Order: sequence, then structure tokens, then C-alpha cells
Amino acid sequence: MKDKDIEGLKEAGRASSLALEYARSIIKEGASMLDVAQRIEAFIKEKGLGLAFPVNLSVGSDAAHYTPGIGEKREFTAKDLVKVDLGARRGDLLNDCASTIDLSGEHGKLVDAANEALETAINMVKNGREVREIGREIERIADAHGVKPIRNLGGHGITKTELHAEIFIPNFDNGDSTALEDGQVIAIEPFMTNGEGYVEDGENVEIFQKTGSNPVRSREAREIAGFIDSSYGTYPFAVRWLGKEMGKLSEFGIRRALAELSAAGDMEQFPVLREKKAGFVAQAEKTMVVDGDSCIVLNG
Ligand code: MN
Ligand code: MN
Repeated sequence: MKDKDIEGLKEAGRASSLALEYARSIIKEGASMLDVAQRIEAFIKEKGLGLAFPVNLSVGSDAAHYTPGIGEKREFTAKDLVKVDLGARRGDLLNDCASTIDLSGEHGKLVDAANEALETAINMVKNGREVREIGREIERIADAHGVKPIRNLGGHGITKTELHAEIFIPNFDNGDSTALEDGQVIAIEPFMTNGEGYVEDGENVEIFQKTGSNPVRSREAREIAGFIDSSYGTYPFAVRWLGKEMGKLSEFGIRRALAELSAAGDMEQFPVLREKKAGFVAQAEKTMVVDGDSCIVLNG
């Protein structure tokens, strides 16, 4: 990997870690979810960096992919278990990191299991390490804490164009003997739950990604497609971002246009992922570069 790329990855990693710390300082009972999301995103942009994807604020049994919507009215409550998942990017060098904030103080087991599993996994990362071995340790730590890892979520490779690419790093021993390779950028993300250990798609979709440019009929869909191309490219974006930027369109109009683009095969959708038995979910995530016998961790 080029030195310039390592520097950019480190810069994105530092900004992302600081953004997680900032998130921890503003997520409180009574804080507006919309305000918190906007302030975290502004924090990253003020450092001169872009967003690899919208800030995810998934609460309780929502495991991932929730970001506040247009006109979001929800506030954090004293019962909330909040996963903050975010990533800054320096050009096309992406970071992906997450941490769990337990406002209730009742989910220490889940949070500890996720954090401990992540640190143990990081210590195992090296050139040639089989991904199943990492998964086995994550599951062992879950067992030791009396909780379950989420089996259909896991870590992943990160390339310059794709946040989820090349390799899947399971949160249990899935028998996959694929080996990590020197220079690979990867994110590891154990999810822990007191539910069933699986997530499923919810109804709500707040995050989209433009993946094609097939023709669409309506003027609104064409206008939105052009705006996405010039503003977000192929990186994921939030419906509320469009709400802010395309002020003359109603939420209904924006969602109709996104549905039309999706039907044309131009959009990937990221539904909110909910734990199957509505168990509580904690997550911890960092990005790193595989480096010989160990790795360079990009999130402090
Ligand atoms: Mn990730
Ligand atoms: Mn993430």
C-alpha cells in the first residue's frame, strides 16, 4: 500500500474516532436524534473530511442502518442502548467504526462482550489468519459473557469504492478458511445480543446508495438522480440529506422518486436491521490494515 494511502486512512480513522467521542458527549436522555446526527456529521465535515456513509444511530433491538428521517421527532430516552456507527473519508479512503452507548446502564454484559471481542479479534489479525478463527474467538467471548453473537452480521474488507468488499469476517466459526492478506483494509464488528442472534430487515429505509444509471421516466427522479451523482456519487446517503438539499420536493415526492430509481435497478436500499426476537444489541467496530504479523489499527 502507498504511504499516501496509509496517511489518508489514518486521518479518516482519527477523525472518525474523535467523532465517536463527540457522539458520546452529546447523546443524552432528551437529546433530539436528528440534532445529534446532524451535529456528528458536521463535526466530521468541519475537519475537512467527507462522510463514507450517514451516521447510524440504531437504538435497542435495531442493530444497524437507522439514521434519523426527514422530520424526525424522536429523542433519546434513559432506557436506550445506542449504537453509533460512522465513518469519515479522505477522498476515497474510507473508515468504518462504531461504539455502543448504554444510557440505561443495564446492558454492561452486552457492551463488554462486544468491546472485548473486538480487541481480542484485533490482536489476532495478521497476514494468513483464517477468518473462521477470528469468528471462533468472538463466539467464545460471547459465550463467556452469557450472550450471543449476531451470526448474519460481520466484518468486511474495505476498498476505495466499496465499504463492504472482498472478504467477510464472521462473528462465529462459519467454517470459512479464507485468509487475511497483507495490505488489506478490513473492519471487524462483533454484534452481541440477548435475543436470537440474527437480524432481519425492517420496513423502514433511511439509507440508500446509487448503484446504476438506468433511465427513469419522471422529472423528479431524473433531477434527484443527477443531484445524487454530483453530491454523493456511489457512497450511501440519507433520505434526510435529500430532504434538506431538495427543499422544493416533499418527503412523499422524494420517496416516490427513490422508489422509481430502485425499481429501475439504480439504487441499493439499506433497511433498518432488527434483532429477530427483539433482543437488545450492542456493537463495537474498528478499521485496520493487515500488516505482516499484526495490523495497523486506524481507530484509537
Ligand atoms: Mn462495517
Ligand atoms: Mn460500521
